Amino acid sequence: MKPVVLDCPAGTGHTNGPGHPESPDRQKVLETLFGDMAQQDEIAFQSIAPSGTIDFYEGPHTPSYLRLLSENTSDPDCPSRLDPDTGMSRASLPALRATAAALSKLVSAYRNGEGRFFVSERPPGHHALPDRAMGFCLVNHIATLAWRIRSTDPDARIAIFDFDVHHGNGTEAMVRDIPGTLFISTHQYPFYPGSGSGRENRSGPSGEGILDIPLPEATGDKKYLEIFYQTVVPRIERFKPTALLVSAGFDAHKDDLLGGLALTEETYSAIGQTLARMGPAFIASVLEGGYNLTALVRSVEAYLRGQATA
Ligand SMILES: [Zn+2]
Repeated sequence: MKPVVLDCPAGTGHTNGPGHPESPDRQKVLETLFGDMAQQDEIAFQSIAPSGTIDFYEGPHTPSYLRLLSENTSDPDCPSRLDPDTGMSRASLPALRATAAALSKLVSAYRNGEGRFFVSERPPGHHALPDRAMGFCLVNHIATLAWRIRSTDPDARIAIFDFDVHHGNGTEAMVRDIPGTLFISTHQYPFYPGSGSGRENRSGPSGEGILDIPLPEATGDKKYLEIFYQTVVPRIERFKPTALLVSAGFDAHKDDLLGGLALTEETYSAIGQTLARMGPAFIASVLEGGYNLTALVRSVEAYLRGQATA
């Protein structure tokens, strides 16, 4: 099944300030890739306008925090700091509204039954907490998508797989009390943000719960894929999700500026292909990290091609 890429061009307006690794160029280089892949008929491509509302994130996020974001009028050339790593300006709001529109489309797509989707947006989301920004993230896209799908289908069984090099602490905190939800994260440990040791792991009667898999620096493709096939895949299969949501961060790549897990795009191809083969009819991936532009493009290409060939 051909993956559908939902691209949110308004994301390029968001900036954390000069020299920051989470830069608008990340999205620009991916847009060039998507243009080429669409021309080769490898993906279907949709450009998403900033037509959503910030209220879409209410529930997982508090109204007062969302109001604080909405009222930010900082100049894009001088974004205000919401935490030491995370900037926000008035140009960040259209970025969030575009991602809300893309996620809203995904909720409708889930109701219609099937599809493989990839949302390309900025800023990433998996560190964002209910009432504060953290680690380049303003709002939590994956947790909000899970929350919205559960709101529309109380019987939904939602598996979240986060393969970003950093632990998805914000997502874990937001979905841990949502019934029928499984959160799995593979990540470098010890590493930012310091959580994800495995001490929080738990499993309900049908496999719901939390599975944090901390990995040492320089894990590499072979060891990573062993763990993926032997631990991640069986847990998702046992859980039998109706929706598989993926926090797709590519900063575990060996050339990344921040991460040190030493993976190559071969792993991302294998993950994309395996999830598409085993997964439920509905799979939605949302871009998280990935800070070497060349490695990011090659990794996203490998992931989407893996899904397309499944
Ligand atoms: Zn990351």
